[in-house]
Amino acid sequence: MNRNDFPILDETVYGKPLVYLDNAATTQKPKQVIDAITEAYRHTNANIHRGVHHLSQLATERHEQARQAVADYLGAKSAKEIIFTKGTTDSLNMLAFSFGEVMVGEGDEIVVGLSEHHSNIVPWQMLCKRKKAVLKVIPLKDDFTLDIKALKSLLTNRTRLVSVAHVSNTLGIIQPIKGVIRIAHSSNIPVCIDGAQSAGRMPLKVQELDCDFYACSGHKMYGPTGIGILYGKEEWLDKLPPYQGGGEMIDHVRFEHTTYNVLPYKFEAGTPDFIGSVALAEALRYIENIGRENISVHEQELTRYADRVLSSIEGVEVYGLGQSRAGVVSFNAFRQDGTLIHPFDVGTLLDRQGVAVRTGHHCAEPLMDYLSVPGTVRASFALYNEKNEVDRLADALKVALQMLA
Ligand code: PLP
Repeated sequence: MNRNDFPILDETVYGKPLVYLDNAATTQKPKQVIDAITEAYRHTNANIHRGVHHLSQLATERHEQARQAVADYLGAKSAKEIIFTKGTTDSLNMLAFSFGEVMVGEGDEIVVGLSEHHSNIVPWQMLCKRKKAVLKVIPLKDDFTLDIKALKSLLTNRTRLVSVAHVSNTLGIIQPIKGVIRIAHSSNIPVCIDGAQSAGRMPLKVQELDCDFYACSGHKMYGPTGIGILYGKEEWLDKLPPYQGGGEMIDHVRFEHTTYNVLPYKFEAGTPDFIGSVALAEALRYIENIGRENISVHEQELTRYADRVLSSIEGVEVYGLGQSRAGVVSFNAFRQDGTLIHPFDVGTLLDRQGVAVRTGHHCAEPLMDYLSVPGTVRASFALYNEKNEVDRLADALKVALQMLA
């Protein structure tokens, strides 16, 4: 699928053709996105929003067009609901601070899932510490999906927000977020969705989902690093205070009193990444040209194939085998006596054979504790991966396991 658009895939590693299976960490970039960055620096680079000169106006126009492109892509009601951030982590920190400032007090509760990325745990934990609030955790069922029944019993009249990932970055499990939103909303509790792993992988519209907030990262969806999105329903964003102070986010500044800008600028202090936004819009165009449904089907097919091929190797355990998963295969290998072969050793030997995977706790230590392992080996797919790369992974894994047994 459009593999030739990605120049980096022609690289070799230790003399072997690169097999890049670390897409949950970051995707590679098509030349259309790389060209968009060069084009913007060559032809439209000027600081935005403040300039009367032509270039500044052009750059402003392109930045705001990019915001509209994001709003269309996510299915937001208006571009005012799209805040440009540095990435998912930044989005979640912004929300935790801003929401926490006015909505959370002593004894209130925030609810997150057990399998969350640290970015969707630690900002809430920090908020809870700051406000003397309580962090509650939705347990997992045996199939690693969030236990919706348990969520019902966790919610109280002190619950202020539920924040969960759409897709687990570690296991690829697609979480029942519609159920989470329905249950939380039935108690008038807003829901934030960490969409880092879903935004580039599957069709979704925030208005249909009816989530109150949604966070994602450009670099995980074929776009540049350093730019991300926080979507929030306008009625919520209107109520929340700014996260950072500085230029752009103000209306008037006096030493006695400062008034703030309108949405979304109230949340965008300082010079925004106006080159990144344009490149992100190009990435979204690229995704839409292929179709999110097609990408999703392709990645799920690769996942099922990898499940089959990897789980047939002696000693290999794939987590969430046969589950509805999005483009992620997490596994461990065990010796005949049942001891774990450390994922770091497996990953290093795979790398020597040109296969790039991620090993470790994947920023989800509570989930690793739950699985009682120090980490896993994770292969994650993107639209350009092919079955023969899964075969290369399997062959390399067999070699690695022979060496490590
Ligand atoms: N949430 C999830 C589910 C992720 O997979 C990641 C990154 O892997 C993040 C949050 C953090 O994203 P970023 O590092 O782009 O801020």
